[in-house]
Amino acid sequence: MARLLSIVIATTNEGKLSELRALLADLPVQLLSVAEVLGGKLAIAEDGVTFDQNAATKARAVCQATSLYALADDSGLEVEALGGRPGVHSARFAHERATDAENNAALLRELDEIEDGGRAAKFRCVLALASPWAPERVETVEGSCDGFIARAPRGSGGFGYDPLFIVSELGSRAMAELSEAEKNGVSHRARAVRALRPVLVGLLDERLREVERALG
Ligand code: IMP
Repeated sequence: MARLLSIVIATTNEGKLSELRALLADLPVQLLSVAEVLGGKLAIAEDGVTFDQNAATKARAVCQATSLYALADDSGLEVEALGGRPGVHSARFAHERATDAENNAALLRELDEIEDGGRAAKFRCVLALASPWAPERVETVEGSCDGFIARAPRGSGGFGYDPLFIVSELGSRAMAELSEAEKNGVSHRARAVRALRPVLVGLLDERLREVERALG
């Protein structure tokens, strides 16, 4: 497939990268990692208080550093009994440099006293796309997935809180018990990508018209 557009994915999270590549595989876009374009990482302060703010900050920073379209994902888990925590702090719930296992253990500890009926949660994902022609104007879309928090980790797929997140619409299966294709059928990220599709299709149409004009 001829690739009409190059987009840098503004993340160092391998799980997000792999899911986004699979979710966008049918479009004629070349998806690049930051390391492929810049040869290393870009330090970006994620100091926003919303997923929207952090996603836009990451997309804008990578777009400005690479002069390419940049797509950022800011996502996390909101637990009702914790008033929406960990939210934007999902990656650093246990401590600043926490592993997924440490975050999962911290979450289980905080919910220890909470009965099964009170363990509702939601995964949220905001995707932000910045254009090198106007990096200040960032397009954002979002998706969410409802579920609840299990009492112990289950499964080995996915990343982050997947072993603890039971997907409401699938009965009693944890996100980490799904194949990547199954996760990509129901996840917050898949729903955000669905919302982003019309934006990408619009850009691809424009690009195709430019190529046709250039070819005369
Ligand atoms: P971010 O890099 O600040 O967006 O942090 C995202 C964090 O949210 C990850 O490190 C995970 O802890 C959590 N998270 C986001 N998406 C998922 C997912 O699809 N499955 C499990 N955990 C996720």
